[in-house]
Amino acid sequence: MRLSQMKQANIHLLLVSLLFILSCQSNDLKIITVLGEVPVSEMGITLTHEHVLVDFVMIDSLSANRYNKDSVIMKVLPYIEELKPFKVATFVDCTPEFMGKDPQLLAELSQKTGIKILTNTGWYGADNQRHLPSEINTMSAEEIAEIWIGEAKNGIGNTGIKPGFIKIGINDFDFSEIDKKLVAAACITHLQTGLTIMSHTGLASAALSQLQILKQYGVDPSAFIWTHAMVESSNENILTIAQMGCWVAFDGIREDMAPLTRFKDLLQFMKSTRQLSRVLLSHDAGWYQPGKPNGGDIRPYTALFNSLIPYVMSEGFTQKEIDQIIIKNPAEAFAVRVRKVVK
Ligand SMILES: [Zn+2]
Repeated sequence: MRLSQMKQANIHLLLVSLLFILSCQSNDLKIITVLGEVPVSEMGITLTHEHVLVDFVMIDSLSANRYNKDSVIMKVLPYIEELKPFKVATFVDCTPEFMGKDPQLLAELSQKTGIKILTNTGWYGADNQRHLPSEINTMSAEEIAEIWIGEAKNGIGNTGIKPGFIKIGINDFDFSEIDKKLVAAACITHLQTGLTIMSHTGLASAALSQLQILKQYGVDPSAFIWTHAMVESSNENILTIAQMGCWVAFDGIREDMAPLTRFKDLLQFMKSTRQLSRVLLSHDAGWYQPGKPNGGDIRPYTALFNSLIPYVMSEGFTQKEIDQIIIKNPAEAFAVRVRKVVK
């Protein structure tokens, strides 16, 4: 074989291997639901931030005895069933540990409705850390991560149900040592498990502080969801962070006109700046609240489909753009894989 032929053969081999690696990667990607692993291609239309049950009681008083599982299912099931005509295939439940996270309840709802549900590992430090165990003060980020990685490997408690992402919450104005520890623990957990980090964060400044910690750990911003990004009033600040590659989640959609207009404006802004590929949408709605008569009032999970999508489509959004936001982006955001900074 002449030298030029050998070079050509080598290039050919390289291309074939590269294609093989790429096809394996996309075929193998999965999400982790409360009923087990599912290929990411089956994720479909996804609500990326909702709640079935939230309990705001002080951590010492928390207990699954504060509610009757069957009553919760009876109350919430019709609201999840309402998603079927809109072809919603996946529902991401964002209730964290120590605030009523109940993987078995979610698994039962998923079995009854056929809708895939994701639950999480991680701890919530927002709300002045009142939903954190007191041991947090003396624990290192590594020790916290060990617990979360354990949940990812062995399941949550003795349920055998594995988390599909990491949910943390931090305080906006006082980014404390504990907040830093939670973000660091999330980074360590991500690097071990490939689970995406979703952080309850309001302002852009707090999102930036967290991305700084991701950088220290070599975690790519695409592994991070800035949830409640619509709380930030400066669109320019939202743009800056989206351009860094992280997910910006506008997840407080409701039927009222003023919030709807705000979401419509945000989507138009993200479209005009070519950043729709970084956007996630959801309601942060629900939920059954123990302690309230019959669980209190539930806010439905449907305003996105009944109101926001028709609204933005009347303003020129295409079906392709909508599908990007409610199908493609969630699949890319939640597909389990380690995302390290490429040096
Ligand atoms: Zn929430």
